[in-house]
Amino acid sequence: MQIHENFTGGNIRVKSINGDVVELENQLRDTTTEWFYWAFCVEDAGGKSLTFRMQPDRLGYFGPAVSHDLKEWHWLGEVDGDSFTYSFAEGENKVYFAHNMLYHPDRFLTFAHRVGLEVKTLCESKRGRETPCVTFGDGEKQVILTARHHACESTGSYVLEGVLERLMEKPIPGIKVFCVPFVDYDGVVDGDQGKNRAPHDQNRDYLWEEEAIYPEVAAIRSFARENGCNYAFDFHAPWHKGNENDTVFIVHSDAAREEKFRRFSKLLVSAMTPEAMQFYGKTDYPSGTGWNIPGAQFARNMGRIPGNDVAFTLETAYFGTPENTVGQDKLVALGRAFAEALRAYVG
Ligand SMILES: [Zn+2]
Repeated sequence: MQIHENFTGGNIRVKSINGDVVELENQLRDTTTEWFYWAFCVEDAGGKSLTFRMQPDRLGYFGPAVSHDLKEWHWLGEVDGDSFTYSFAEGENKVYFAHNMLYHPDRFLTFAHRVGLEVKTLCESKRGRETPCVTFGDGEKQVILTARHHACESTGSYVLEGVLERLMEKPIPGIKVFCVPFVDYDGVVDGDQGKNRAPHDQNRDYLWEEEAIYPEVAAIRSFARENGCNYAFDFHAPWHKGNENDTVFIVHSDAAREEKFRRFSKLLVSAMTPEAMQFYGKTDYPSGTGWNIPGAQFARNMGRIPGNDVAFTLETAYFGTPENTVGQDKLVALGRAFAEALRAYVG
């Protein structure tokens, strides 16, 4: 039997194996605060029943996300405090477990190919990879869409896919789109937390008064400077769980634009479809409260570009609630609804 992190998004450390009990911890790497992301693969455990013990606050409401191919994910469903038990069928010799439903970058390439989007290179990442981006549409108004400023926040990727899908099949007249689907591409591939990196993370690298330290952020900033940025939306996942973190919500990025955020929020509620992860518009996060303070975030600084109408972050829960549970298709459907809300907003 092997327990390892040697795959896209992998992150684990095996502390001990005693009989059928495996004790695990996640790797913070250069994250400066406690964080909760982990993902591991178990090979050659067919026929065994194993109990995995995690640290506190590492498991969601519905147990780990489980996959056999890194493409399809489901919730195990059962969880016993900070542990879960999995009975491997005979011959079930490769199973992935993760904190949340991972979004493999290959999924984006497959999606882009399916809808006819050419994937280009934004820049070379710090670790020498080609960070992807896409552009499409014609018009005077520029939309900038991003996800994975925080590497582990995969729910945002599914939502972004839905937004792009709908905008490709039914464009908004007068709108052109620039999209960076994995801003922290290295972190996504290597399975980093990405949140609260030292000295600061990708979503704290946008102050116009300072130079960017990440090549992707420098490239996004120069694109926005040269092409403008009438609308900017950044797709994230919030904290682990509890309160607003169990919902979908808009983070108000500017106290002076409350009216615009509220208007968009109402349009998104109206655009909801039954198959979507539901957005209720009741947990939107006002500027200047709690953790939402002005700073070097993408949305706040895109909002400062002359001609910008609205810029904000959409946070989508990792797990949701029993009535509104996260699933891959539901997140994509939420993205399609978001595109319709944008159409109504722009119109
Ligand atoms: Zn985030």
